Amino acid sequence: MSRRYEWEREVAVEAVREAARLCRAVREEISPEILAKKDKSPVTVADFGSQALVARTLAEAFPDDPIIAEEDSAELRLPGNAPLLDQVLRHVRNIRAEGDSTDSIDAGQVCAWIDRGGTSAYRDRFWTLDPIDGTKGFLRGEQYAVALALIVEGQVAVAALACPGLDAVFYAVRDEGAFGVPVESGDDDAAGPPVHVRVSGRDDPAAVRFCESVESGHSAHGDAASVAGRLGMTAPPLRMDSQAKYAVVARGEADIYLRLPTRADYREKIWDHAAGALIVAEAGGTVTDVHGKPLEFHHGRELIANRGVIVTNGRLHDRVLGAIRELRIGEESPV
Ligand code: AMP
Ligand code: MG
Repeated sequence: MSRRYEWEREVAVEAVREAARLCRAVREEISPEILAKKDKSPVTVADFGSQALVARTLAEAFPDDPIIAEEDSAELRLPGNAPLLDQVLRHVRNIRAEGDSTDSIDAGQVCAWIDRGGTSAYRDRFWTLDPIDGTKGFLRGEQYAVALALIVEGQVAVAALACPGLDAVFYAVRDEGAFGVPVESGDDDAAGPPVHVRVSGRDDPAAVRFCESVESGHSAHGDAASVAGRLGMTAPPLRMDSQAKYAVVARGEADIYLRLPTRADYREKIWDHAAGALIVAEAGGTVTDVHGKPLEFHHGRELIANRGVIVTNGRLHDRVLGAIRELRIGEESPV
């Protein structure tokens, strides 16, 4: 079988793996005092460092591809943020030190890599990146992800999702299945072959498990409880940050991921869903918005044509959408 996007897939997996190494290194330096002060600077350092590394890798491999990413370097370039920029530079150099000479990496270079993520207009082929998805989970020492996807003609073609809290990198190429490899090793021979990931076959509501955001500001917990009640789902929700939720549905540990709108005017960001959505679809699951409409990735930075996101193992999808319709969730008009 001819394999499409093999080079893109390899580059994407290595890119998120390297970025995840940086995130872990930053995480290891977080002291209890920093957490107690509610100091968010480690997230900022990991966010920018992760984006710099991924953007650099993509620039080397695919110099003509634009990147739509969450961050730009404007904030980092402010004189008051020089200490943060120093930290980003230190971490990027540490990661890169293993591979090549780091002398040439300076702060200007790091900012220039970050700013490769500044595209916002739609193009026929582009990458979208969330350098740290689930920043609160990162700080809590729980789930977070580095999420990268290649979008070609409006469809997600390649996805790579590093989930350090699940100890895995998940990846998928459209029509070729979804796989997982350990997050640590770059050497697949040593780590064993990639594991095929598949959604669960569960369809008895009494046995299924749904997941949702930890943050009630990101997904309406009350509405999710109403959907669960209507369907006879009795297990408590599995709450976790980031696209790790897509990953646990993809590998069958959970059966449903509900992201129900909290505000009429919020539009989901493409980098929060592109990678996870392809991985679940390739694992045999179904991903739509709350109205059952496929996610549309060709409108720029936001999923402007969609409301909320519903992810299931496929078997449960129609029932979940039916409950949402009956409860009239997501029907309020934008203010
Ligand atoms: P999660 O970890 O699943 O709670 O999602 C984290 C993501 O939620 C962040 O990357 C934000 O882009 C996104 N976000 C921020 N505000 C909202 C909101 N009001 N509704 C849905 N998602 C949001
Ligand atoms: Mg995010």
